[in-house]
Amino acid sequence: MFYKFLLFIFFALFSCANICNKNETFAPVELCEINLKIPTIIDLNFSENENNLIIYSMDKWKEVSNNKINFIIMDYQSHDKIMAYEDPNYLYIGRLTNNDSFLISLDSLVGNNETKGYTLNNIIYIIPERIDTETYFILVSLHEEGHLLGMHHSMITNSVLYPRIAGMGECLQETPKPTFFDMQEIYKRWCN
Ligand SMILES: [Zn+2]
Repeated sequence: MFYKFLLFIFFALFSCANICNKNETFAPVELCEINLKIPTIIDLNFSENENNLIIYSMDKWKEVSNNKINFIIMDYQSHDKIMAYEDPNYLYIGRLTNNDSFLISLDSLVGNNETKGYTLNNIIYIIPERIDTETYFILVSLHEEGHLLGMHHSMITNSVLYPRIAGMGECLQETPKPTFFDMQEIYKRWCN
């Protein structure tokens, strides 16, 4: 059950370089028995475009896992409800702004006020005003969803779990989606 994961606070920033692996395969997950259906509730404060980018990122998990990882949007709720009510049976995705007192407390906890997303237990927080482009928005979403799926940071730049968005590999910057390396981690987490 996804809500049982022990997830802490993670963040995404900075820069570096890498080489693109164009011929990725996802054989490990093909062989895996997982079938995750993750009921999801999204903050009404996201703009229509931001909401579409979140859905895009979720569809990418579905695509690369051959339909074995499914985020299912159950409802949209007010920001206050998202922040106040935590039902462990659902994934919540909240929209934070720089003025949000909860974000200020998260930032002070990690000592960084440039963090673009956080994942805490079964809640993902995204801070759109710190994200420059749609590609980065998708990468932040993929990254936080990866934490939700039980993944830790990766030192591989061709992974959506690389902790610094600007340093992620070229192919991620071109067509953001979970990579072979990410699916290997999913395999380790869920299929052994
Ligand atoms: Zn992270």
